Formats: sequence, structure tokens, C-alpha cells
Amino acid sequence: MSRGGSRTGRGSARDALPTKPCAVCGRTITWRRAWERDWDDVRYCSDACRRTGVSPVDADLEAAVLRLLDARGEGRTICPSEAARAVGGEDWRPLMEPARAAARRLVVAGDVEITQGGAVVDPSTARGPIRVRRVRRPPEPERVPR
Ligand SMILES: [Zn+2]
Repeated sequence: MSRGGSRTGRGSARDALPTKPCAVCGRTITWRRAWERDWDDVRYCSDACRRTGVSPVDADLEAAVLRLLDARGEGRTICPSEAARAVGGEDWRPLMEPARAAARRLVVAGDVEITQGGAVVDPSTARGPIRVRRVRRPPEPERVPR
């Protein structure tokens, strides 16, 4: 019930720093001393994210990811580019990175997970092509006849 059982005691204090997700790109923000006083108010990982914010297009991308996943069916994945195309039409390429950010925000929200080669990866650090799928709900307890 208390946490911290898995710490391996390598003496790295960095592991213990608090983190939170960026409200825009969904990447992990790690506590810095500069934020000592206003950590609770920190929402963005960078000035770029603060300037960009979450636009209506970004909300559309999130909705498109979920819509595409629901259309594809249980356990199936989509590429973020499909959401970019669904929202941007012919002009989808500039929406590619925003689509990946939308997927990361959905990971933060607990709706989806991001995979590479079929394995779930940390969206903050994943490089290269990613797939997105719905988080699998824990299955209903099944009564197995003995
Ligand atoms: Zn960010």
C-alpha cells in the first residue's frame, strides 16, 4: 500500500523528482528547481507549448483518433497520420506532429496507449512511427466452469 518498493537504490535522486504531463504535447515534465514555488501552476513543458496551446484543430484531432479507433474495432491500432488526414484532408502533413501530440494527450487522459512493434512505449520518448490503440479495459470477471 505504500509506494517505493521497486526502487533499486542506485542513489539517483532524479528518479524521485515529481513529474506531470504537458497540457499541450503530452510529454512528461520533470520538476526543476526553477519551479520550486509554482510547480502546481506549471502546465507546459516549453515556451513553444505555452505559445501554441490547444487549438480547436487539436481537439478535432483527438476526436478523430477516438473515432477512427472505434470504427476499426477492439484491439486494433491506427497511425496518427490517419487522424491527420481525417482532419486536414489534402493538407494533412502539417497536422502530423499535432496528431502525435493529440495521441499523447489521450494517453495522459487514459483513453489510448501508444505502441511500437506491438509493445506499449513511453510516448514522451518514442521516436519514429507509432501506432495508437484503445486502452484495453480489464475484462469482466468471468465465471469459469470447473
Ligand atoms: Zn509540451
